[in-house]
Amino acid sequence: MPDAQPESRPLVIYGPTSHAYDFGPGHPFTPRRFAPGIDLLRALGAADFEEPVAADDAALATVHKLGFLADIARLSDYPEMADELAVTDGDTPAFYGMHHAGATVVGGTLHAMEQLLAGERGHAFHPGGGLHHAFPARASGFCVFNDVAVAIRRARDGGHRVLYVDVDVHHGDGVEAIFWDDPLVQTVSIHQSGLTLFPGTGWVEDRGGKGAQGSAVNIPLEPGTSDASWLAVLESVVPAVAAAFRPTLLVTLNGSDAHAHDPLANLQLTTLAFARAARLLDDIAHRYAGGRWLATGGGGYDVYSAVPRNWALVWLAQAHHDVPAETPLGWRERWTSEAESRSVNAPPALMLDPEGTAKPESALVAAANRATAAKALQHTLAVLSERHGS
Ligand SMILES: [Zn+2]
Repeated sequence: MPDAQPESRPLVIYGPTSHAYDFGPGHPFTPRRFAPGIDLLRALGAADFEEPVAADDAALATVHKLGFLADIARLSDYPEMADELAVTDGDTPAFYGMHHAGATVVGGTLHAMEQLLAGERGHAFHPGGGLHHAFPARASGFCVFNDVAVAIRRARDGGHRVLYVDVDVHHGDGVEAIFWDDPLVQTVSIHQSGLTLFPGTGWVEDRGGKGAQGSAVNIPLEPGTSDASWLAVLESVVPAVAAAFRPTLLVTLNGSDAHAHDPLANLQLTTLAFARAARLLDDIAHRYAGGRWLATGGGGYDVYSAVPRNWALVWLAQAHHDVPAETPLGWRERWTSEAESRSVNAPPALMLDPEGTAKPESALVAAANRATAAKALQHTLAVLSERHGS
């Protein structure tokens, strides 16, 4: 279907420099995640790649404290000072070159944003971006610098109203905190409840700071949530918030870790939900945000199955291509033996998981999720409609 806005091919941010962000062997957020996913994008026709280049300290400082940037620069040369400087955590260990590696993730997302702001692109996707747990003065949860927040800050300072939708299985705590008091940045995070998952925050009562009530929306979901109620939540909350907030630009974090097969979390989604989410977000970008949509990859640890197919579904939605029934045979052949050698899920034949991939959710889970979404939505819509005087 033709778009109302001029639309070019989506930009994908990826290149050899993406691999510098590496916490070392055995860490789940490994650059090994890139190869099977990027290879699938190429097999589906993606050809428009740009390599990320490090952002400078001035860009990082739009979100991060100068003392923190200095500490990360120090850890970059002396990772053994991690305990002394105390700005990292056990999940986010210091490594040689971490300042440059983190700045490169930010540079990729920021470049994508600049392309959108200049009107050069309608959509862009940075699979290595989405480091949503980084705070102004603290690295956390595999995230050193908050690339998403730096890009949102740039758009907001350029006069945009930014809608940020985070469907990673973990609460988008860093992004939410950074824009907590800003009514021009609307955050929506749909995640597994902090009662049972890192970072342990993101309650439905958390709605934004003084002067920005309603600008944060949190939907904590029960463990065991599957496609049915996850999609019901997404489809009831995100379009309604978009209609009330009236964004001029959409930023998303399309994590792959809510999938049933993800080893680090407890939701039960299939790639059917990821596909529907990507199409819904594309529709919102065109309907409300002038077609401007910057997507990031976020988390996801089922490296040969859930992650590559989710990235492909995001790219296919951005390219406005139909989803093929099967993954390309050549792609499967290239990655099956590596997956088997690591005893993890092999690349599947189907793009969309068949019925029975995930356990169905209980009626109690579905009812709890529905009530949570209704509660969050009611409050935010009331506040936003009052603020806009409509
Ligand atoms: Zn589109």
